[in-house]
Amino acid sequence: MKALLVGEFRQGKVEESTYELVGFAKQYGFDHVMFIVAKEGVDIKYDSKLYLADADKYGEYNPDAHKKLIEQVVEKENPDYIVFSHSSYGWDMAFRVAADLKVAPISEVVEYKDGSFIVPCCNSKFRREVKPKTEKAVITLQGGAFQPVAEGTPQIEKIDIEVPESGVEFVGYRVPEKKGVDLTKAEIIVSVGRGVGKKENIQLEEELAKVLGAELGASRPVVDAGWLDQSHQVGTTGQTVAPKLYIACGISGAIQHIAGMKKSGFVVAINTDKDAPIREIADVFVVADVNEFVPVLTQKLKSA
Ligand code: FAD
Repeated sequence: MKALLVGEFRQGKVEESTYELVGFAKQYGFDHVMFIVAKEGVDIKYDSKLYLADADKYGEYNPDAHKKLIEQVVEKENPDYIVFSHSSYGWDMAFRVAADLKVAPISEVVEYKDGSFIVPCCNSKFRREVKPKTEKAVITLQGGAFQPVAEGTPQIEKIDIEVPESGVEFVGYRVPEKKGVDLTKAEIIVSVGRGVGKKENIQLEEELAKVLGAELGASRPVVDAGWLDQSHQVGTTGQTVAPKLYIACGISGAIQHIAGMKKSGFVVAINTDKDAPIREIADVFVVADVNEFVPVLTQKLKSA
């Protein structure tokens, strides 16, 4: 099988997710080449052929031009799979390319198995296995599902086309204003999940955080329910954190949450379900009711 990996370049830098595409290709032993729109002389660690289009000419965001460029590489390389990150760029481009090439699009892939792709569904409670019926497929990879691989020096081939007319004008990026807590700098995070049961119970985690000098993190349902504000959210649509200690309280370990905290130094997870997926990445896994365990832990720490 051969994969065309579509890398991402933003504001002068290759996006880290690009290397997850390489990790995916290597994990399943695919032949692979990469395409990217980037500045000439870009620092990219990749050990195969890289089709490079000039960001100064095509722009970092120009879906009409990028689509044409990608299709030119598809023609040259005839890949089985055209692989994007499931990012705002990836989910925008992937479906344009799939529609143009009339091939199956499959999004948010977390695994590959004998020609089928595994995609989480129902809030990651289930997984569906999807097999493309078309000869080629366009897929997007869930952020954090594959280990990034950044190694080697690419054999660069420049790629050039006439810039097509576009109905879209790229105005610029807007960085969201930082409000509330900055979890990225925290050394210890006590993170609250749906398993705490109700907003009032969060005071138990707040107390534990106070004793440890920690910040309070949260899973998305906690934020969606309005129990904590969005600045506490950890995960693909929240903050990416790397504390020395991460204490997950009533968090199941959905891939979107793990993607945001897997670089934590030491992970303690408290969960009533002994098979909760977070167990796989926890250094210490406590099977207990979080509302009973946390106050006892806080008391022990206070008296230590
Ligand atoms: P649940 O999955 O409901 O898990 C609750 C856990 O608590 C369970 O494991 C249960 O066994 C345990 N539990 C229940 N009662 C107790 C108790 N008394 N004591 C101890 N344990 C108990 N999620 C994020 O967190 N961050 C994101 O950025 C994010 N982005 C997303 C983006 C997209 C596009 C999508 C589709 C989803 C995203 N999600 C994100 C949601 C994600 O898929 C999960 O639904 C979410 O992480 C689950 O949160 P949770 O673990 O708190 O809740």
